[in-house]
Amino acid sequence: MKTQTTCDVIVIGAGPAGAAAATVLAENGLRVVVFEKARHPRYHIGESLLPFTFEPLRRLGLIERMRASQFIKKHSVQFVSTSGRASQPFYFSTRYGPDIAQTWQVLRSEFDLLLVENARTKGAVIHEETTVTALLREGGRVSGVAVTDRLGQSTTWTAPLTIDASGRDAVAATQHNWRVRDPLLNKVAVWTYYRGAQRDAGIDAGATTVAFVPEKGWFWYIPQHNDLISVGVVAEGRYLTRDGVRAPREIFHREVGENAWIRDHLAPGQSTGDYHLTSEFSYRSRFGASHGLVLVGDAFGFLDPVFSSGVMLALKSGILAADAAVEAFAQRDFSADRFAGYTAVLHQGIENMRKLVCAFYEPNFSFRTLTDQYPDLNGPITDCLSGDVNKDFSRLFQAIAEFVNVPAPLPYGSPEPAPTPATVTA
Ligand SMILES: Cc1cc2nc3c(=O)[nH]c(=O)nc-3n(C[C@H](O)[C@H](O)[C@H](O)COP(=O)(O)OP(=O)(O)OC[C@H]3O[C@@H](n4cnc5c(N)ncnc54)[C@H](O)[C@@H]3O)c2cc1C
Repeated sequence: MKTQTTCDVIVIGAGPAGAAAATVLAENGLRVVVFEKARHPRYHIGESLLPFTFEPLRRLGLIERMRASQFIKKHSVQFVSTSGRASQPFYFSTRYGPDIAQTWQVLRSEFDLLLVENARTKGAVIHEETTVTALLREGGRVSGVAVTDRLGQSTTWTAPLTIDASGRDAVAATQHNWRVRDPLLNKVAVWTYYRGAQRDAGIDAGATTVAFVPEKGWFWYIPQHNDLISVGVVAEGRYLTRDGVRAPREIFHREVGENAWIRDHLAPGQSTGDYHLTSEFSYRSRFGASHGLVLVGDAFGFLDPVFSSGVMLALKSGILAADAAVEAFAQRDFSADRFAGYTAVLHQGIENMRKLVCAFYEPNFSFRTLTDQYPDLNGPITDCLSGDVNKDFSRLFQAIAEFVNVPAPLPYGSPEPAPTPATVTA
């Protein structure tokens, strides 16, 4: 180890959650240092935004930049049955005013760069190509991090507060053995990009399409700028690897044959040749905060991406955690409990969305059957799926429970209980 340096807040990771947290902290005059193992612009999956991403983007001062960007405007979602028949698109404008009714499909390399530049402009110091290798603990609290830069130089940094925004690497949850897999959502995703594939005309050009394959698997079809389509399939691993096929490219192309709409839309285009696979991706961190530590975005937990909630939750959690951190500095109190309000809000939002995700995967459930019986639930379903997740949806979930099991919340994400004095000195 070489030097030891101090600041107010250390942020691990400069994705949406880390950049959002760093922006708000720097705006509040705190000395924020962010460590990012990659160099922006860097590739990332997670490209379709939800309508309620508007408020976090507004808070970060980015709405005008988004409106002036090349990102494709998204006004709707549509669903395509296994037979290849497309539903009427659902337009967000049927429920929301213009700010919320239009969101974006983003190339994450460009979107994340925008977020990071914004944080930098507000005063955050961002060290790229610098990996956090460990959280430091001292007397029962997290006291900072050890980092290694691209030249292999190791340094320790101390701060009263560290924010873990390291995404699915989940630095804190991994180091503390806090990562718990969601027992109900063990899916595999395989995806690629196409150039020259078909896109719909006019207001539908930016629609997200969710197209079903057998056994509750589904494709996403997300139009991007630069003539790119992001297209991937998600399903149970045993379904995707049936016939012993394991190579992502082969899985992908076999599944394209399972849905005529996807097959026809991809037909005029060509894959870029990069195929990605990720598996068993839903999990939660046992604790969402500890003394001197708070977790945000995917580092807190990851939910199956069928309803595109990840970036909205990452931005929102980064902002909420930063607001709580500003309060913590005002009180000079960095105990885990100080973040109980923040973790409760994030937990509620994820759990509301998770109930709909689990219902979606139930073989005998359809939202259409539910709303045929309870038309007044169209509104609450739309709100939750649009990202307005921190509301009381108990009537909706009671109604869903008449059709399928509604899972109990995962009992994770609260602040870690304070250690006993004996543990502190250990
Ligand atoms: C198949 C799939 C499809 C998805 N589709 C969507 C979608 O359509 N819409 C949507 O909203 N979400 C989607 N998501 C989810 C979305 O990708 C994430 O929720 C979102 O990126 C979370 O943001 P984050 O800031 O928490 O983490 P990340 O975006 O992962 O950022 C974390 C950052 O931390 C850095 N980092 C990691 N470890 C370290 C370390 N040790 N030291 C320093 N830096 C580190 C990483 O390099 C990275 O830049 C999808 C996810 C998957 C897997």
